[in-house]
Amino acid sequence: MSFYLKGVHIPHFKNTTNLSAVKMTAPKYVSIPTSMHIGAPATPIVKVGDSVKTGTLIAEQNGYISSPVYSSISGTVTEISDMLLSNGKTAPIITIESDGEMSVDESISVPVVNNKEDLIAAIKKSGIVGLGGAGFPTYVKFDTDKPINELIINCAECEPYITSDSVTIVDRIDDIVYAIDILTKYIKIDKIIFGIEKNKQAAVNTIKTAFKDRSNVEIKTLPTLYPQGAEKVLIYHTTKKVVKIGELPIDIGCVVSNSSTIAEIGNYLKTGMPLIERCITVDGNIVKEPKNVIVPIGTPLEEVFEFCGGFTDEPKKVLYGGPMMGIAVPYLTVPVLKNTNAILAFNRTEAKVAKTTACIKCGGCVNACPFGINPVTATKALKTEDLDGLERSGVELCMSCGCCSFVCPAKRPIVQNNKIAKETLFELRKKEAKV
Ligand code: SF4
Ligand code: SF4
Repeated sequence: MSFYLKGVHIPHFKNTTNLSAVKMTAPKYVSIPTSMHIGAPATPIVKVGDSVKTGTLIAEQNGYISSPVYSSISGTVTEISDMLLSNGKTAPIITIESDGEMSVDESISVPVVNNKEDLIAAIKKSGIVGLGGAGFPTYVKFDTDKPINELIINCAECEPYITSDSVTIVDRIDDIVYAIDILTKYIKIDKIIFGIEKNKQAAVNTIKTAFKDRSNVEIKTLPTLYPQGAEKVLIYHTTKKVVKIGELPIDIGCVVSNSSTIAEIGNYLKTGMPLIERCITVDGNIVKEPKNVIVPIGTPLEEVFEFCGGFTDEPKKVLYGGPMMGIAVPYLTVPVLKNTNAILAFNRTEAKVAKTTACIKCGGCVNACPFGINPVTATKALKTEDLDGLERSGVELCMSCGCCSFVCPAKRPIVQNNKIAKETLFELRKKEAKV
């Protein structure tokens, strides 16, 4: 598979670029899922009726790829129920009614870090996961004996509307500097590279000023071409290294971490307060006062929208994340998660789905795809369950970025087809291995 690294020019709609994050008032209640990360859900250690404070551990890490969960407010546990996950499984979700105090758990203390093991243990305990959307437990990325040539800080933020990362860079550069200093003190990292699209000038200037005396820090300004923030694309554009099929970034000496994740590491190492809140962009064509808001994790979306003045029209489509890769939510009572970087609301006009017509074999999807995947070949091979065709199409690399769907004149459901094609490819491989 060739690595073309194309992409698409999309509208930016970065309405909140210059708005510093504002802290939300305590919500009436929070519902905190025990599964807000890749890996096993955390195990609840509280019961209905228990009193908790801000920063109280409410669910323990369960296995290596997992993450602990902490209360984001003070109050009383009122319900522990099951939540349906996207993989069809369920995981507990813990509801806490606020006492309005936001009092802090007395056990919160600055972690003692004297070596790499201490540092990994601290990041593990912090409950920090990839805040850019993936939700991978952060400590795992640094818990490696393989050499780290480049730590790439993902500041690309290439989806429309979302500005929470660039605003966090400007608002909390001290936390980022603190995290980088401790990470590089205890972990051997040859180089730090900030990868950022050139349209985020305030953030670029902030990084340049903060790291001007560091010879091991580089700032790579990238063209504003979606999807610069996709891990493999970012690695290529910042290092010219290619992550091949079946490889992880660490196999080629790279670790990628989102800028807001790094800021959270800095905050935890300074204060000992685990991940209990995060900055999100609240926007969309019907939000009265678009803002960047620091929100307690587990806050229902409706309270966050209320904090932003409510809606000017009836919401027809509400998304976790941006319009290219975001996930539509079924109710406004769903909670803000650790990896929610934005919530967007649109009315009927913006939510209208275009009519699908037959593929005209224009090749636009292949040309737009950063990896040169051929969705037409994948769709054809899917129909006949042709493993060879699926492999040739390159669909295995598909990251659901949506560039293909964006350019498709026939409005084909390419991303959805690719997801099924990818699953089918893995199933067919499993079958073949058994024969
Ligand atoms: S969704 Fe998949 S096929 Fe489409 S452009 Fe992105 S990576 Fe390529
Ligand atoms: S862009 Fe759409 S119409 Fe063109 S080849 Fe791809 S699927 Fe077919």
